[in-house]
Amino acid sequence: MSGLTLERLSKVFTDDDGSDIVAVDDVSVDIQDGEFLVLVGPSGCGKSTTLRMVAGLETVTSGDIRLGGESIADAGPQERDIAMVFQSYALYPHMTVRENMSFGLEESTDMPDDEIAGLVEETAAMLGIDDLLDRRPSELSGGQQQRVALGRAIVRDPEVFLMDEPLSNLDAKLRSQMRTELQRLQEDLGTTTMYVTHDQTEAMTMGDRIAVLDDGELQQAGTPLECYHRPANRFVAGFIGEPSMNFFETEAADGTLVGDDLEYELSGTSAESVGDAERVTLGIRPEDIELVDAVGGEHDFETTVDVVEPMGNENAVYLTFGDGEETFVATVGGMRSVEPGSTAVARFPEEAVHLFDGATGAALK
Ligand code: ATP
Repeated sequence: MSGLTLERLSKVFTDDDGSDIVAVDDVSVDIQDGEFLVLVGPSGCGKSTTLRMVAGLETVTSGDIRLGGESIADAGPQERDIAMVFQSYALYPHMTVRENMSFGLEESTDMPDDEIAGLVEETAAMLGIDDLLDRRPSELSGGQQQRVALGRAIVRDPEVFLMDEPLSNLDAKLRSQMRTELQRLQEDLGTTTMYVTHDQTEAMTMGDRIAVLDDGELQQAGTPLECYHRPANRFVAGFIGEPSMNFFETEAADGTLVGDDLEYELSGTSAESVGDAERVTLGIRPEDIELVDAVGGEHDFETTVDVVEPMGNENAVYLTFGDGEETFVATVGGMRSVEPGSTAVARFPEEAVHLFDGATGAALK
């Protein structure tokens, strides 16, 4: 069994003038045997530091890391049965592809040379780079170098793969192709994988589960759909989804949310979920807003179309309430014609509305 457990893991760095930088703050997450977990969050939130602690490249300030139930927090990087794939690929420039892929095995095992050679060829064939084995990294494209870096991790047949933004140096088309390929590969190999990215689309499409970090703290761990439909807090709600969820700050009074530009009446269960909260943030995803022909109920609002941005088969329509300053965005099918400057009625269906405590950001509904 190769499940990986991070238990109350923290990392504190000390900067030059002696003050503490808490890079990772009390993070606990379980990665099941064979699972693909994506660690996602904005730049500087502690993703790489977490991964580097698991790899043994960074010491642990407090907490524990267990692999298959055994603590590895004090083991050296070579003693952990883990292979890491870096954003920079980190290939040896003076070695051929074959040498790059076999080097780790030659160094860390006493596997016979012919067995290593066979394994390298088999892995290279699996990755479609078997005709490149005698080239050096400088003679390869970015995508090919990336495959070599992956191949080097795969030949080691480790208990765990750690990947730090491995696709970020590739162009958009290749990146999306490699996402699918990598996922398929991981599924076939069944190797427990922890994958770091700042790109929420990558996280949503690749992960069996995602762990969202902000400011060193774990905000939510769940399947992509759980994080999308039931975000634990405002941060996760805003981070997951593209374009981002719209937020409106309101005050709650007798089941009605009153904001600068909108009044939103809540019904039974939503009204109850607000409880005693005085300030409530109303959130709605752009794809959940409907543009309708006329005001037909209390959740329909007159708006003015500010900007229309084509996004392939959809449009992002930026709207304002009356002459309000607040802009929000709705995505609508490209067939619907909406002109800047025209009026539009935006419907916020209550079942699609998210409510957050205005003070703490925690989800209320
Ligand atoms: P990015 O997506 O930009 O790579 P990240 O989420 O991987 O960011 P980390 O690299 O883990 O973030 O950094 C987390 C925090 O720890 C940041 O504030 C960073 O400046 C700080 N940090 C990282 N390494 C060190 C170090 N060696 N010494 C001091 N501070 C560090």
